[in-house]
Amino acid sequence: MRPITHMVLHHSATDATLRSGDPEGAALWAAIERNHQKHWAKTVAGYICDYHFGVGPTGVVLTGQPLGMVSFNCGNARLNAVSIAVCFLGNFQVARMPAAQYAAGVQLLRSLSVQHSILLSHIMLHREVPDERTGIPGFTACPGRWFPSAAMRIAFQEDGGGGSSRAAMTR
Ligand SMILES: [Zn+2]
Repeated sequence: MRPITHMVLHHSATDATLRSGDPEGAALWAAIERNHQKHWAKTVAGYICDYHFGVGPTGVVLTGQPLGMVSFNCGNARLNAVSIAVCFLGNFQVARMPAAQYAAGVQLLRSLSVQHSILLSHIMLHREVPDERTGIPGFTACPGRWFPSAAMRIAFQEDGGGGSSRAAMTR
């Protein structure tokens, strides 16, 4: 197993339910996987997805890349190597997260952080990831301005999870 020390949170930046033909996000997830496979199939054998997990709008957790494999989820190779990528289906640049998706997401992040001893300060939003050349975060809005990172951070702290005094999810 590769060393896992971080989590990076994303959104799909799409309508989560394909305008209601896909209430749980399974069809969207399959389409995301097909896209990513097309991109990486020739360079990485067995590549499945840029994300290890997806969380659908009704709280369904979808599995993507096997945890033992790196997913190319952010523009920082060092962080890709040691991170678990979680994608919340939806566009939180324009919409709020449904309660069921939020609850399932918190539960997933909590169990992954306990399982892999990931510090609260090592749970990062995609937009907080420093570019590996410049050292400053890039220009993505991912996972969107309405992504409930502040509420999630409080949920983790109340839980006593993490164990670090400095939280990365500050916005
Ligand atoms: Zn992202």
